[in-house]
Parts: sequence; structure tokens; C-alpha cells
Amino acid sequence: MTTLDTRLRSAQPCFWHNPGYHSGAAADDHIGIRQAAERLTRFAPCIRALFPDTGDGIIESPLSRADDFAAALESVWGMPITGTLWLKRDNELPISGSIKARGGIHEVLKYAEELALNAGLLHLEQDYRRLLDEEVRALFARHTLAVGSTGNLGLSIGTMAAHLGFQVDVHMSADARQWKKDRLRQLGVRVHEYEDDYSRAVAEGRRLAEQDPDCHFVDDEHSLDLFTGYGVAGRRLKAQLAAQGIMPSAEHPLMVYLPCGVGGGPGGVAYGLKQEFGPHVHCFFVEPVQSPCVLLGMMTGKGAEVSVEDIGLSNRTAADGLAVGRPSALVCRLMQPLLAGAMTVEDLQLFRLLALLQDSEGIQAEPSAMAGAGGLQLLLQQPQWQSRAARAHHLLWLTGGSMVPAEEYQAYCHQGQA
Ligand SMILES: *Cc1c(COP(=O)(O)O)cnc(C)c1O
Repeated sequence: MTTLDTRLRSAQPCFWHNPGYHSGAAADDHIGIRQAAERLTRFAPCIRALFPDTGDGIIESPLSRADDFAAALESVWGMPITGTLWLKRDNELPISGSIKARGGIHEVLKYAEELALNAGLLHLEQDYRRLLDEEVRALFARHTLAVGSTGNLGLSIGTMAAHLGFQVDVHMSADARQWKKDRLRQLGVRVHEYEDDYSRAVAEGRRLAEQDPDCHFVDDEHSLDLFTGYGVAGRRLKAQLAAQGIMPSAEHPLMVYLPCGVGGGPGGVAYGLKQEFGPHVHCFFVEPVQSPCVLLGMMTGKGAEVSVEDIGLSNRTAADGLAVGRPSALVCRLMQPLLAGAMTVEDLQLFRLLALLQDSEGIQAEPSAMAGAGGLQLLLQQPQWQSRAARAHHLLWLTGGSMVPAEEYQAYCHQGQA
């Protein structure tokens, strides 16, 4: 057994270099990220009418420098953070307060668009506020959207689908937080709870959906529509960086740290970033030490044929959004040449980082979202990355958290300060 293997099995923080990584590998657009971006633009007037807090109807999050967080990390870690530190604040994305507002909502919109087009109730050049008319809503009311989720995907899909007038079934795993279930039920969503983990909730949801021809199942393990929705982040980030005068280069690469569950969110974002920046962006996935499903699937080449339980891990983590034991086979395949590496972090570390982010920047994140920062610490200790890291723009993808209820968030902070 290699040392990495031993560390992985004993739930210690790991760094895996992807031997298949080819920084200049092409991420071509046969998967359809451009079409997804165009679809989201068509929907903007409709989204704006339903969710005025989106402003222009484009669901996007801020990018910001994090000098204060960097200084706080340096003093806690006792080492310098070379380069500059940035935060991509998907924790503040409208509608669901998490990265799932990208992929999940795109898939709902695509389904709605197809139904309306096929019924002759919409054409592509029309103002999409048309979808709010009674006639179209009546069509949607005869259809169901279903999804299996650890929480945030259900929240995104449930919120959007319910607002458009669909029936919704959300199958939640045991890890899902109560407040997420409560919120969905208030919207009229049917929430089904499972004692088991996320893979079971997905399998059960998929099985029930197959029996109903008017039901669309959003398949977190296989869906390309989710993946492309996440991928749109690449072009949006490019514009945000350009607005700050930044264009990643060989001299100043962009290094991105993405919290990872089943892989779709971080995978789609990484794919979109590779399309925009090619060899000048390096993407890393970060998973909890007890749930390193994508690391394991990619390292062994077994993809979804292997689970963390197979190597004696529990898949128990306070990072509910990352509590996934078996990865997406699609993501493992697509990421093969595009992912620079993957790391694992301990839960305790996530809470510490969460409290530190609050104290230094006043930003609210959930434990899952802090995994990227843990990954940065490990990266900075890797000799083979040190020279590139020295002049890099390090970007932590804060994947969720602004909608966590105040009381629950306070408890997270206390845990991190203790
Ligand atoms: C879902 C989620 C992730 C990871 O996305 P996957 O598609 O499951 O890999 C990361 N952070 C948060 C907060 C999430 O909800």
C-alpha cells in the first residue's frame, strides 16, 4: 500500500496529484455550455419577475479579494499565502444561497422551456415572462419535477420549480438539515425523508419517477443539463476577473479550490473554467476525510464502481453538502485530463475556517463551503506546486451558506472558535 492509500483509509488529510492531468487538455463545447448560457439569458426577464432580488434576472454571485481572510489564515497556519486570495461567493447566490442555484435551476428551466415549446405555447424569441401566464402554468401543474438531494439541490430545484407552478418531489438523505426541509414544505414541495445516505435517496427518487411519464427526474449522478448549468460560471468569472484587470497567464495562473460532493457542481465549474482559461487555470476538488468519493473514484479509475464504504470510511461528515459516498461516473470521466488534483480535509478544520471567515471578512458560509480553504493549506505545502502558487490568484469557491438560519450559524461559529 502506498502512503496515500494508507492516509485515505485512515481518514487523514490527503493530497492526490492527478497523474492524468494535462493542463492544456481541450475542454471543447460538445456538452453545450454555450447553449446553457443562452438559455439562462432568455429566461432572465422571467427570473427577474419571480425573484426581484436577482436584479437583472441573471443568477450570479460576487467575486471579491480576501486580504483580511488571507492575513487571518497566515497567522493561524503560521505560513505565508503566496499570491493573492479571492472568494467566489456562491454562498450569496439568489434563490437558494448555494452553488446549486447554477446547475439545478438550469435543468428546471430547460425542462420548462421544452414543455412550453413542444406545446406551442412559447417561441424562442418571445419575452419569457410568457411562462408566468395562466395557460402555461396549467401545463406545468400537470408535470412533476423530482430530485434526490443532501439538501441544497432540493432547495434550488424545489424553489424554482414550485414558483413556475410544477409539482415537486424532493427525496432527502438523512444528512439533510431540517431547515431545508421546512422551507421546501412551506413552498408546497413534497419532501420524502430517508434514513439512508444520499445515493439511496437518489436511487429511490429515480425509481419512483420512472413510473410517471409526466415526471422529470433531475439525476445528480448523470445529468449533463446540471453540468452545463454549472459550467456557465466559467464565462461569467472571466468577465468578473477582467473587470478587476485580471487575465490568468502562465506567469500568474488561476488556482481554484472547489468543495466536492458527487462532483457535478465542482466538475461543471472546472470544465467551464478550463474552456475559458485553458492551461492557465488549475482546479482542485476538496472533500471531507470520510467522504472522498471523487478522489477515490478517479485515483482507482473505478469511477462510480467504488464507494468510500468499500475502503472502510463512514461517509459521516458535518459538511452535509459533501456527504456523498459514491461519485458521478460522468464527472470522473470528464475530469480525467482536466483536474489538477484532489484533497481531503477534516470536519473540525471546516468549522475553524468558517469562524475565521466570519471574524475576518464578515461573510457567512456553511461548513461544506469551507473545504476549499482547507485545500489551499495543503496545496501550499506541495513542493511541485510552490513555484506556480507563488504568483497565483488563489480562488476559494464558497459554495453555500447565506441562508443558514441565524441560530444554526451561531452554533457553527461557536464550534469553530472552541
Ligand atoms: C452540493 C454542494 C457541493 C458539491 O457539489 P456536488 O455537485 O455534490 O459535488 C459543495 N458545497 C455545497 C454547499 C453544496 O451544497
